[in-house]
Amino acid sequence: MATLFTKIINKEIPANIVYEDDDVIAFKDIAPVAPIHVLVVPKKEIPTINDITDEDALLIGKVYRVIGKLAKEFGIDKDGYRVVSNCNEHGGQTVFHIHFHLIGGEKLGTMV
Ligand code: 5GP
Repeated sequence: MATLFTKIINKEIPANIVYEDDDVIAFKDIAPVAPIHVLVVPKKEIPTINDITDEDALLIGKVYRVIGKLAKEFGIDKDGYRVVSNCNEHGGQTVFHIHFHLIGGEKLGTMV
């Protein structure tokens, strides 16, 4: 089912877009938890990590390639950053269109 990220992809609602190509879009999170907080989103509507198929392998690889490029662009590649993807209720997922939080710009607390 289409989520608000589809509306952002289709430019039906505004977002601070920092990267876009045919397959992937990235925009600033509306409620950042760190100085840099970008959501990197494959345009294909995949609800959760559980729904990723073999045919999505290249797409997910591309997402990580974009994350690396953005980290460099934002100047956080050397100091480091965190990538988070929440899945379903216990993981804290609220938008059911897979996305990867790129978080950095400060020393982050240990999570795992
Ligand atoms: P999740 O909780 O599913 O892992 O992450 C969803 C993220 O989407 C949250 O960090 C939330 O702040 C962000 N978000 C929710 N609504 C909007 C919106 O309308 N615009 C943007 N840019 N981010 C949003």
